[in-house]
Amino acid sequence: MSSSSPSHPSASTTPSPNQPNQSVGLPATEAKTNESTFVCNVCKTVIMLKNMATEWINEERELPLQRQKKGIDSTETEVVQGYFGVKDMFAFENIGFTRSAAGKRFLVCGECEQGPVGFVDSETQMNYVAPSRMDTQ
Ligand SMILES: [Zn+2]
Repeated sequence: MSSSSPSHPSASTTPSPNQPNQSVGLPATEAKTNESTFVCNVCKTVIMLKNMATEWINEERELPLQRQKKGIDSTETEVVQGYFGVKDMFAFENIGFTRSAAGKRFLVCGECEQGPVGFVDSETQMNYVAPSRMDTQ
């Protein structure tokens, strides 16, 4: 009366979920796609069909204002938060590129060049578009 099988699972490495919430300022990239088709909010041309984006970044970036006042040299910008990431520019239906004086590349409507609707990351060549700069269809 002594054989008792030790059936205790000895896996006692519980990872402590003690994560200090210090993710402020870090790029919060998550896998996510766009659930609706994005169209230009001026000419209604389809810019990107739905389900083409591969990631979402909840970052704040400065984009030039959509309507630049003529006769002003300096580019006025505003902070836009939240971008869908698209790796391949061929994922777009209609897209155009502009280059700022500082060498930054921005994405504009391929039909009427309204925008920018997003920007190109110069390191990764990823394209990022802001839903707040476009209409959905
Ligand atoms: Zn347009």
